[in-house]
Parts: sequence; C-alpha cells; structure tokens
Amino acid sequence: MKISVIGTGYVGLVSGTCFADMGYEVMCIDVDKKKIDMLKKGILPIYEPGLEELVLRNSKEGRLHFSTDIKSAVDFADIVISAVGTPTDKNHRADIKSVIEVAKSFGENVSKYTVFVTKSTVPVGTNEMCKEIISKEIKKRNVKVDFDIVSNPEFLREGCAIKDTITPDRIVVGVESEKAKKMMEKLYKPIVRTGKPLMITDIKSAEVIKYAANSFLATKISFINEMSNFCECIGADITEVAKGIGLDGRIGSRFLHAGIGYGGSCFPKDVQALIQKGKEVFHNFKILEAVEEVNARQKERLFIHLKKVYPNLNGKKIAMLGLSFKPKTDDMRDAPSLVVIKKLLDDKAEVSVFDPVAMNNTKIILKKDEGIRGNKVIFAENVFDCVRGADAVMLLTEWDEFRALDLKKIKELMKGNLLIDGRNVYDKEDVKKAGLEYISIGRAWCIGEKCNKCVSAND
Ligand code: NAD
Repeated sequence: MKISVIGTGYVGLVSGTCFADMGYEVMCIDVDKKKIDMLKKGILPIYEPGLEELVLRNSKEGRLHFSTDIKSAVDFADIVISAVGTPTDKNHRADIKSVIEVAKSFGENVSKYTVFVTKSTVPVGTNEMCKEIISKEIKKRNVKVDFDIVSNPEFLREGCAIKDTITPDRIVVGVESEKAKKMMEKLYKPIVRTGKPLMITDIKSAEVIKYAANSFLATKISFINEMSNFCECIGADITEVAKGIGLDGRIGSRFLHAGIGYGGSCFPKDVQALIQKGKEVFHNFKILEAVEEVNARQKERLFIHLKKVYPNLNGKKIAMLGLSFKPKTDDMRDAPSLVVIKKLLDDKAEVSVFDPVAMNNTKIILKKDEGIRGNKVIFAENVFDCVRGADAVMLLTEWDEFRALDLKKIKELMKGNLLIDGRNVYDKEDVKKAGLEYISIGRAWCIGEKCNKCVSAND
C-alpha cells in the first residue's frame, strides 16, 4: 500500500515519516518549494525531537519521497492524506481554503480507486464538501473513477509528535464505506497490533470528536488557571489544589498545571472555530466563550504581577526565558510570550529574550508585526546573556534547561532581584536562598513590602 501526504508541516511531515518508518512507501507533498527543497537535502523545516533522524533514515532507505507535484502524488498512492493547515480566518472560523484546494486537485488527477483522507482539523461538514468537490472534478473530466472519503483527525502533540503517532491513545476514523474502512484498518495495522484502539465511526462524529477533544482540554487549562487566580487571592497553593483534585479518578491529574494560558497552533483556533460553527446552527457554546476569555486574561497575568512590583516599566530591563508556547517545539503560533512582549514594549520596558529553539520563528513574527515593534527586542545568545542587567526575569516556557538553572548566578548577573515564574517550575525555598524575590502562578507568593495586595482575578 502506497501513501501520499499533502501538506508537509508539523502533522504531515511527522505522519508521513512515521508511516514510512512502519514500512510503507510515502510521498510527502507541499506547495512550499523551499520546504521541499530543504527536505530533499535532509534539512528539516521544523523542530520536532527525533524527527530528523527518522526523515534521514527513511529517505535514504527509499521509502520517503518529497515533491511539489500533486499529480504524481495522486497517481502514486492508494491512500491520499490531506494534512494542510486550517488557520483562523478573519471571522474566527477555520479557514479551509487549502483543504478545498487539495480536494480539487485530487479530483482533477485521480485515475483509479483511491481513498481521500482528511487529517487536518476541519469543521463538521467539510469532508462532505470535499466529496462533492472531488465528484464534480471527476465529472468535468468525463471519466468514471471510484473514490472514498475518510475523516481521520490527528491528535499528536508537538514536542512528542513521533511517540503520539506511533503509540497514540486512540485512532479515530470516520468512514462511509466498507472498502475504505478495510483500507484504513490495513493502514493502521502496525499500530493497532500493539493494542492501541482504532475507533471506527461516521464522518461527522469523527469531525466533531477532534474539536470536542481540544475544547475539553482547553477548558481544563482555563479551569485550573481560573482556580489559580482565586488561590492567589486567598493565599492557597494551586499545585496542592491540583494534586488534591487530580487524585480523583473522575478528574485525573493530567493537564492541571496552572500557567500563562494556552497557545499554539491548535487550541486557540479550534476553540474559536467550534464557537463559530455553533453559531451557524444557532448553538451558543457558553462554556467555550468563557474558556477563551479566561485564557486571554491569563496571557497577561505575568505582566500584571510585574506591574504590581514595578508600576513604571520605563527603562526597566525585563528578561524573558522561553518563547515557544510549550517546550520541545519551535512553534510560535498564538504563543502567550507574544502578548507579554507587546505589553512590555507598550510600557517602554527593555526586553531581552532567549529560547533554545524558537528564536528564529519569533524574529520572523516580530518583524512582520508592526504593533509589536520587533526591532526593540534583544535576542540573547543564552540564558546568562538574557538576564544580565535585568530588573526582573520571567519564565514563560518550561524548557528542561531552565528547570535546574543556577539561581545564584542568575541573581548575580541581574540588576534587580525579581523572578516571575509563569510555570511554577522553581522551589520557593531555593529561590529565596538565591536571594531572589519570587512570584509564581497560584501559589502564595507574598513578596513582602513591595506588594501586599493580591492581584484580583479580574485585574
Ligand atoms: P502547518 O502549517 O505546519 O503545515 C501545513 C502545510 O500545508 C504547510 O507546509 C503548507 O505549505 C502546506 N499546504 C498548504 N496548502 C497546501 C496545498 N494546497 N497543497 C500542498 N500543501 C499545502 O500545519 P500543521 O500544524 O501541520 O497542521 C495541519 C493540520 O493538522 C491543521 O488542520 C491542524 O489544525 C491539525 N493539527 C495540528 C496539530 C499540531 O500540533 N500542529 C495537531 C493535530 C492536528
């Protein structure tokens, strides 16, 4: 069985490479010629732990090919998987322009029975729309070609995308024909044989499962963040509260880490897209509207804490450790750090930043964003350069290399002594011993004289 993957981004490149590593022959396609040229030379356009080695090995062994030619990809494969991006459009809906383009190209080129699989996250009804587009294109050519559509949403997490692809919690497949079901079962046989569940369902339910899953996870994050703000007001410790509720099997301990709000390429856009899809059918997602509102507020939380200590930031140097929306990725889409940078620059602070892998992507985003005035940001070479002379240090992304920092050295390099920990990574006593003042998220964080007021959750 041969597979083509259309769209060679975080999902397409990982999925295609993992299928090749299972032994399938795979062709990965993208409209971005630069990306494909890089991949042909063995250079990865994204950072994902472990991916480079897999790409190089499978390319070398002749199972993984890269091209910009969609016709050859459709001719080549028994299963064509569309994994193109579905960003947010100006009305906060999922922009399915690329998905439609791919369906059209598939219809223009398909010449034998092929299964067309949508892996991109798409609003309910999109697969049905793709089916119509493909049928129309085939009809235009005056030929008779059989095909099936399948919804196969992806649940991988950046940073551990390979593990998530090879050993997923579950695989969801929405089908409407027995033939396509058999093909998908065959495709996923190498994974299912390890005991991972393959859930076969109808296409619409598969589409909704993806949005429901991401919305539920986003809700969990906003819930714990809201609770952490309450803990700050009354002097409780959110890490203790999370542990206490997480021990309840109905709640579970995962995804209960208070922080600076969710970001990335999925939760923000998927929550918004589901709210908008609801509106189309006169369904009001009240919970999700609150989830979004809490999240937007949480992204400003560190800044609000900082302002309690330094009401006037003019001329203050603030060092930011971590830029990507979470560790082990260079993805900067909707990263909370961008909100913090903007707020700091608006308040005339001097901003220095450091991230182990997301510096380039941050530079690209800041350059494009007039409002953020990227030219004012100092991109440090390393952590120590970043904190040198800083009045305050903020931790935004819990990269492993920030977890065991020499806090005494940090203090010595700084001008001031304030550490704001957006991920509750440090031990309060260790920070104190290093001579630093400490503010964290949702933990009793009294910093004495400088701030004796709690930060209201609604500040
Ligand atoms: P991405 O932006 O990293 O990659 C998309 C790729 O598609 C780009 O390389 C782009 O050039 C290419 N593309 C666009 N139009 C094309 C066309 N007509 N033909 C060929 N290639 C085209 O996006 P991503 O993060 O990989 O996400 C892809 C989809 O998977 C989205 O719907 C997303 O919501 C979903 N998803 C993403 C993740 C994640 O963690 N990134 C996880 C699960 C699901």
